[in-house]
This record gives sequence, C-alpha cells and structure tokens, in this order.
Amino acid sequence: MLTIKNYINGELIEPIAKSYIDNYNPATGAVYSLIPDSDERDVQLAVTAATAAFPSWSITPKNERSAILIRIVQLIEKNLEKLAIAESIDNGKPVWLAKMVDIPRAASNFHFYATAILHDATETHTMENTAINYTVRQPIGVAGCISPWNLPLYLFTWKIAPAIASGNCVVAKPSEITPMTAFLLSEICIEAGLPKGVLNIVHGYGHKVGSAITAHPHIPIISFTGGTKTGAEIARVAAPMFKKLSLELGGKNPNIIFADCDFDKMLKTTINSSFSNQGEICLCGSRIFIERSIYEKFKTEFVAQTKKLKVGNPADDTNRLGAIVSKQHMEKILSYIELSKQEGGSILCGGKQALIAGEFEKGWYIEPTIIEGLAYDCRTNQEEIFGPVVTLTPFDTEEEVLKMANSTIYGLAATVWTENLTKAHRVANDLHSGIVWVNCWLLRDLRTPFGGVKSSGVGREGGFEALHFFTEPKNVCIKL
Ligand code: NAD
Repeated sequence: MLTIKNYINGELIEPIAKSYIDNYNPATGAVYSLIPDSDERDVQLAVTAATAAFPSWSITPKNERSAILIRIVQLIEKNLEKLAIAESIDNGKPVWLAKMVDIPRAASNFHFYATAILHDATETHTMENTAINYTVRQPIGVAGCISPWNLPLYLFTWKIAPAIASGNCVVAKPSEITPMTAFLLSEICIEAGLPKGVLNIVHGYGHKVGSAITAHPHIPIISFTGGTKTGAEIARVAAPMFKKLSLELGGKNPNIIFADCDFDKMLKTTINSSFSNQGEICLCGSRIFIERSIYEKFKTEFVAQTKKLKVGNPADDTNRLGAIVSKQHMEKILSYIELSKQEGGSILCGGKQALIAGEFEKGWYIEPTIIEGLAYDCRTNQEEIFGPVVTLTPFDTEEEVLKMANSTIYGLAATVWTENLTKAHRVANDLHSGIVWVNCWLLRDLRTPFGGVKSSGVGREGGFEALHFFTEPKNVCIKL
C-alpha cells in the first residue's frame, strides 16, 4: 500500500510520530493508501526549513523564480494522466473531469503566477516639487496555505503558486481526505529543482496540522480555503496575532433564470452548474430560481436531462458523476435530502444513494437530486449541502428574486440568465455576491478577483490581488 510522506526541507520524510491515517478510495469504499498523521512537531520542522530558505528565495531574481515554476508547469503537464487518475481515485471525481479541469488548471495556476511576477509593477506618487513616494512590495516570510478536498490540486496550487512566486516560503496542508496529488506535487517540485525549504507540505488532520499552522507565531500570513466554520476558527486564533488572512469559504449560490434567456444554452450550463464534480464545487448553483412563466417548461426539461446523467465508476468516461468524497459527506448530503422532505419539499428526481454493482457496490454515490416546493428561507435553502442536490423555486419579479437570492449568510457566486443586457447589469449590481456570471458559469479569467462576501469569506484571490496579498507594501518617501 502506498504510504504518503511529508515534504519538508526538500525531502520526503515520515511524520515524527510515525503514525498514519487511512486514505479511502470513494469509488470502492476501500482503504488504498496511508497519510501521515503529523502534528505540531512536523509543522515546526517545516517552519524551520521555510524560515531558513526565505532569505535566499526572497531575493532570488524574479526570472529565476519564474523559470523554476515553469519547470513545475512542464512536469505537471507531462504527468497529466497520472495526476488525473490519482485525483480521481482520491476524490471520487470522474477521471475525464480531472483530466479536463483539475490538472490543467493546476498547471495554469503555476504558469499564471510564474509569468505574472515578470509583469508586476509598483506605484509612485509624486508631490510636486516636494517629494516622491514609491511603493515596494516585499514578500512576507513563511506563508501557511490550507486547502480543501473538492478540487484538491487545483486549489492547493492556487495558493502555493502566488505565495512562492512572490518570494515567500510556504508551509502547506492539503485536505487529509484528498492528499495524493499534493504528495505527487512534492515529487514534481524536487524534480523541478525547487530549492529546499521553499515549499513544505505537511499532511494530517485539520485539528492537528491545520491548527498548528494557524497558531504558529512565525507564520504571519494564512491563505485558507474550506468551510465557513473552519474559517471562523482560524480567524479566531489568527486575529489576535494580527496575521494577514485570506479566507475563501462556503457558498449557497443562486442561479437566476429569467424567461427571456437563451433557454437551450441555459439548460445545458445549468446541468453543469448543478451537478459538476458531484455538486462538490463551492461555485455550484444549488438554488435555482426560475421566472414563473417558464417554470413548468424548465422543470420538465431539466428533470428529463438530469435523469439521463449516469453515475458510477469514475474511470468510465461515460459517467457524468463519480463518487461522493467520503462516507461521512455522503451521509450529510442524504440527511439534507431527508430534511428537505420534512420541510415540505418534493423530490423530482434522485433523492437517494446510487447503488453501483460489482467492484463499486461499497462506494459512495448519490443520484443527482432535484427538489421543489420549499420555502426560500428553510434550512435546505439556506445551508450549504455541497452535493448533487438543487432546489427549484419560481419567482414573479426581480425584486422578489433578489430578496430570495440575497437571503442566505453566504455571498460567493451567482449566475444570471437573461438576454436583456440592462436587466443583467441591474441584477448583477444588486446581488450580494463576490462573483456574478451572466449567461455562463465557471468561466474563469485568472486575472479577475476571486472570493466571496458575507460568510463566504474575506479577501480576494486571483490576479494581482493574490500577489498583493502575499506581499507587504512599503512606502518610501524621498524629499526632493
Ligand atoms: P474544511 O473546512 O473541513 O477543511 C478545509 C481544510 O482545513 C482541510 O485541509 C482541513 O484539514 C483544514 N482544517 C480543518 N480544521 C482546521 C482547523 N481547526 N484549523 C486549521 N485547518 C483546519 O472544508 P472541506 O470540507 O475540506 O471543504 C469543503 C468546504 O470548502 C465547503 O464549505 C466549500 O464551500 C468550501 N470551499 C470554498 C471554496 C472557495 O473558494 N470559497 C472553494 C472550495 C471549497
């Protein structure tokens, strides 16, 4: 059985306690590898290595840092197939999806920041005949990067790439539920010649490794993606230490469909925005609001299309949905489906565990589920489910749909479908959301600010926002 190792000071090493956590393949429900059950001692080793590497890495010329990151990109691309299969086995997502989205995006993350640092510029502010100010942006030191299980390598690299590109050293922790591609990335970093200590990856539980990173006095900056509750705990510990924080948290995103939309395009994309990656994307539109005049037509066609989606073996390219990441998460999703019934909802399709015969009978699968008849403010419509479950709610007016869309504690992403440009601008303006997609979904330009409002997070990733987050601006004022 494959045993994952920590990557500390350029080497792959065992956790100090020599204890391990079982790593499950969600498609079969079987343990297939072992993950280091690291603790604060391993985090300390990583911080020591990162601290030692920082003086040299932070002054390494940008083009040299960039060249090393580009070698990482090339190795990710060379290993695309292997990484995609590993991601699928670890997470349950279809191999085709990992090949098409997760792994190419991990390469793009490194590529984007490897080149962005070459084009970055800082500001000057002149005071006529008096003084000139210039801003320098300096790397901060050792950055803590903590990521979730839903897009494992994609989100892990989304933090690490800007952190190291801008001259920081990193202590990173992938989710203990999906650590495999982070481990494979550590092998790639060694092969790419990343200097020792620049990136350190410590595997293990959140309450041990994650909290040791959060509380460490020599990690002044933390980039976290995960659940809102965990984000609140990190903020509670880090705020009194005045750490710089970027928190990318949960969502309960509205998908607003006006009667004047391009129906066919909307339907096709709504299938994706509802059920891609088994609905385990923080940006999925789990609350679908449909203008009443097309409600019945939408419902009939959406249910018919959804019933055609095949669920099963993630390695079979004909399956649209793979397995749910863990047994515990599958049970959570199923409990929300039960709750929706108690709250008066009707299940239009799905609504239960999908049982797949043979090798996969012990795997964790859920049929794509559509629910209608719920109040917009019931728990099913307010709490994040994070699975292949969507609700349908009709609306009559813009005012009404905005009230319902903005009613949750979250504000990560929203989707709007209309061919009326004025309406699109108006609704986008009034949505309480960090991201609004009009007539599309998950269309990403890595230069744009990414993040949420309200309980969906604090701060923005992407583009120069991330390079600014991972550096500290200093103003130098020179009197003329
Ligand atoms: P989670 O909060 O349980 O875990 C995320 C990471 O935090 C894991 O690595 C975990 O080990 C670690 N962790 C847990 N407890 C910790 C603690 N006390 N201190 C420090 N670290 C700790 O989230 P999850 O279940 O892995 O991921 C699902 C959640 O992530 C969903 O809520 C989803 O919406 C959110 N998410 C948000 C975004 C975004 O960009 N906003 C993207 C993806 C996922």
